[in-house]
Amino acid sequence: MLDVKVEIYNTLSKKVEEFVPNEEGKVGMYTCGPTVYHYAHIGNLRTYICEDVLEKTLRFIGYDVKRVMNITDVGHLSSDGDTGEDKMLAGAKREHKSVMDIAKFYTDAFKSDADKLNIRWPDVVEPATNCISEFIHMVEVLLEKGYAYVAGDNVYFDTSKLDDYYVLSAQNEEELVVGARDDVDEDTNKKNKADFVLWFTKSKFENQELKWDSPWGVGYPGWHIECSCISMKHLGEYMDIHCGGVDNIFPHHTNEIAQSESYLGHKWCNYWFHVNHLNTTNGKMAKSKGGFLTVDSLVEKGYDPMVYKFFCLQSHYRKPLEFSFEALDNVKNAYDKLAGRIKRLNVNADNIKKAISDAAGADDGKRDLTDGSAYRALANDKDVYDSFEKSFATALAGDINTSSAITVLYDVLKNDTDDTTKAAIVLRFDDVLSIGIADILANASTGAADAGAPGAADVDDELLAYIEESIQKRAQAKKDKDFATADAIRDELLSKGIVIKDTREGTTWEKA
Ligand code: AMP
Ligand code: ZN
Repeated sequence: MLDVKVEIYNTLSKKVEEFVPNEEGKVGMYTCGPTVYHYAHIGNLRTYICEDVLEKTLRFIGYDVKRVMNITDVGHLSSDGDTGEDKMLAGAKREHKSVMDIAKFYTDAFKSDADKLNIRWPDVVEPATNCISEFIHMVEVLLEKGYAYVAGDNVYFDTSKLDDYYVLSAQNEEELVVGARDDVDEDTNKKNKADFVLWFTKSKFENQELKWDSPWGVGYPGWHIECSCISMKHLGEYMDIHCGGVDNIFPHHTNEIAQSESYLGHKWCNYWFHVNHLNTTNGKMAKSKGGFLTVDSLVEKGYDPMVYKFFCLQSHYRKPLEFSFEALDNVKNAYDKLAGRIKRLNVNADNIKKAISDAAGADDGKRDLTDGSAYRALANDKDVYDSFEKSFATALAGDINTSSAITVLYDVLKNDTDDTTKAAIVLRFDDVLSIGIADILANASTGAADAGAPGAADVDDELLAYIEESIQKRAQAKKDKDFATADAIRDELLSKGIVIKDTREGTTWEKA
C-alpha cells in the first residue's frame, strides 16, 4: 500500500474529507448504472470516466476494491420522480422492439463504449430485472417497520417518518414544490409531496410490458429501490462509496438513503461521490433532448475516443464541463503531441511488450492494478520510478485531481532520466488514466529500437519535428506534381544526414 492519504469531497458532509473505509484496505463501491433505453451520451460517459479514475486510483494506491453497478432495465419513469412514461417502454415503442431486446441492445452498446474509453467493467454488473424478489422483500420490511404505506394500490415510502430526509441534498419541501413545475400529473395518492413509489401496481400505463406478482398485486418496482437492493446484495449492509452524476443527488440518492437506512436501522454509506455535468451551449447534455453526442459519433467525426477521455481528465470532476468541438480540437492537438513524445522514447520494443504482458498477467484482462511490479522491473532507475509513482498518487489522492496527475506525466517526460525508465513510469500511470499509453508504446516500438527506425533513432525533438514536417510537405508537393520541390526537400534532409524511403506503407526515414 502506498503511503498516501486519500481525500475526497463527500456530498454528505459537503466538504473534502479523508477517506477511511469501513474495513482496512478494502473498499465497497457502488455506481448507478445506465438506464438502457438509448445510447449513453458523452455526458453520461464523463461520469463513468471519472468514477473509473476514482476506482483505479484506489486500486493503484493499494486498496482491494469491489465495485458494483446496476443496469436500469425497468421502472425509471421519464421524470426522476414518479411521473411520465417508463423510459424502457418509450425506447421499445420508438424502435418497435420488446423491452428486453432494447435492454440487451443498449447494455451491449454501453459495454462497447466503456471498452472504447478503457473504462474497467465493474466487478459485478446486475440488471434490475434479476433482483425482483429482493426488491419485494425490502418493500415488505419497510411496510412492516411503518416507513411505507399502500395507497391507490401502489406502495409509497413515507418521507415524513424521517427527520433527516434531505440530509444529502440540502433541499426542503418548499423548494421541491417550486422546483416541481414539470410535475403536471401530480400523484394524489402521496401523503407528502416528497414521498416516492416503491412498487407500482396501478399505474396509468396499462400496457406495461414487464410485470411481476407481488403481495400488492401484479406490478413493477420503483426506480430507487433497485440501487439499495443491488448494492446490499453484493456489498453488504455497510458501503464505503456511492457514485453518480450530480443530477442523481435528488431525488434518486436522497431516496436511496431514506429507504436503505430505514430498512437497515443504521447508517448505510459513508462517502457520496458526484460528478458534475457535461454541458453544451444549450445546457446539460441529456438523452431526452435529442441531438446528443455518442462515442461513435465522435469517432465518425475523426476523434479517437482517447481524445475525449483526455478532454474529461483535464478538468476537475466537480466542475461543470463545457463541451465544444473547438475545445476538443485543442485537446486533440495536445493529445497528439503527447502521443508523439511517448512514441519517440528510445526504448527496446521487446522489453516494453514483455512488461505490458507481464503486468496484464494471464487473466481475463482485468489486471490487478495494485501490482505495478512488472513496470517497476522495467525501470532502470528505481528511485526515480518510486518518486514519480508517489507524486502521481498524491496528485490523484487530492480529490481525484486528474489535471495535476497529467502534469506529473509531463514532468516525467521532461525529466533527465533514461527513456526506458520514463516509459516504465508512464505505463504505470496509464493503469489509472487509461489514455492508451500502453498501445502507443507497444505500437511505436514495433521494429527494433536500435535499428534506427523512426521513433527510435537518436535524433532530438526539434530535428524529429523538422523531419516529420518535411515529409508532409514533400507528400503535398508530390501530390501537386511539383517534383522539383519534392526533390529539394529530399536533398535538404539528406544534407542533414536523413535518408527518405518511399514504401508501400508510406514514407519513412533513417539516418544515413
Ligand atoms: P442515466 O442513464 O440517465 O440513468 O444516466 C447515467 C449516468 O449519467 C448517471 O450517473 C447520471 O447522473 C449521469 N449523467 C446524466 N447526464 C449527464 C451529463 N450531462 N453529464 C454528466 N453526467 C450525466
Ligand atoms: Zn442508483
